[in-house]
Amino acid sequence: MRARACIKCREYIVIHPNNPLNQTEINMFEKNHHQHTLITVNLNEIREEYQSSKRNGKGNGDSKQEELNSHA
Ligand SMILES: [Zn+2]
Repeated sequence: MRARACIKCREYIVIHPNNPLNQTEINMFEKNHHQHTLITVNLNEIREEYQSSKRNGKGNGDSKQEELNSHA
């Protein structure tokens, strides 16, 4: 599984190639971080150090998954 990640913010978004909604999210992610450095990597290379950018305020049934591993 691959992800787009921002080196500066240490955030990532998982890439789901067959999911059009996901592509919208990736576009938004890229816009949010367009002045930063974005990379495409395998998720398992970064998931321990980066955190998911997915914290959308639209309550669409998803239970809050806070994967905040706050080791600075
Ligand atoms: Zn960023």
